[in-house]
Amino acid sequence: MTRGTGRGVRLLAAAMMLGVLGGCSVPARTAVPDSDVTASSVLAALQADDQNAFVSLFAPDADRERVALLWQNFSQIEVKTITDQDGDGWQIGWWVPGEDGLATHLVAPRWQCDVRDCLLEDIVQWSGSPAPIWLVEAVTIHRAGPVTLIGGGDLDGWASIAERSADFVVKSQASQLIRPGESLVIEVPADPSSFAQVMDATVFDFAGTGAITWIADSGGSAPNEEAAPVRIVINPETAETASTVARYLLLVHEQTHAATINWLGYPAAGQLWVSEGLAEAVMLQASPESQQRSKTMLADACEFFGPPPSDSDFADTVRADVAYAWSAAAVTELLADPDATAVISRLWTESGSQPDVGSSQVWCS
Ligand SMILES: [Zn+2]
Repeated sequence: MTRGTGRGVRLLAAAMMLGVLGGCSVPARTAVPDSDVTASSVLAALQADDQNAFVSLFAPDADRERVALLWQNFSQIEVKTITDQDGDGWQIGWWVPGEDGLATHLVAPRWQCDVRDCLLEDIVQWSGSPAPIWLVEAVTIHRAGPVTLIGGGDLDGWASIAERSADFVVKSQASQLIRPGESLVIEVPADPSSFAQVMDATVFDFAGTGAITWIADSGGSAPNEEAAPVRIVINPETAETASTVARYLLLVHEQTHAATINWLGYPAAGQLWVSEGLAEAVMLQASPESQQRSKTMLADACEFFGPPPSDSDFADTVRADVAYAWSAAAVTELLADPDATAVISRLWTESGSQPDVGSSQVWCS
């Protein structure tokens, strides 16, 4: 299983001799992990559904509960690849059963070595890279119609809301642009610390953000060409305490993102307003109260009008609300165009392209 075992023993013998001759102790050299071979062994154990083989790859004094948790989590997902990144951890390619595409995450094997051998102590987050949710907490999986939820959070509570919001989004007035995949995965971390590891960000970075929609690709050299899926990650700090209506509207917004980013990709630089405007426009269709609030806000903020909001306006605590309201109003107008799909896709993908929509007077009068 490990390379260099014989060399380790010889070094130990030399060290012991030195110790005897010199009358002092010299620390023994330890074995070096064979990361590549262990990665393959983990994958083989998972694919054979062989728990004993999996457990045997861990050191005898590794945390038994932790190893059991990893096994329990792995047994619910599909792992297709584990690729050693030559000193940069492992890249794991995986999906949730029923999901299209292959999510990729970098993770760090942690080793326990003695003079003969290196075994796994744990598998942890690769520093500076988003962690897969199954690495950071005990997960379960809950399938509900067109969505699949995974995580340690309140899956039951989110499932029926997510099913209803998915249904609304495909029937919305933007339906020609909405192209959901077979099954959308929504990650529901149990607590802020899990969320922070899944996002590789501090909870503070997402204060006030209910959920994130992104492409589950954390880098590394992918062994195949399968595209990474779009997923939604719920922020437990903000969203778990929200009302049912607020959660529903949040998921209408995020599911619009998911069903458009999956075929249009992330918007081009400067065009974030198109993507946010579409998600917000669909959300406003679901909520007359929010629509009214959005209109009033625009009327009160006429002096901000001009070109579309910049990408950074959406992260600006002062300007964000108006940026969303402006973008929603603009995209609502664009959706009435008989050629809306072509017009909106062009605005989405071409940096610097400007909307041909009514001037600020339309909403300021
Ligand atoms: Zn958004």
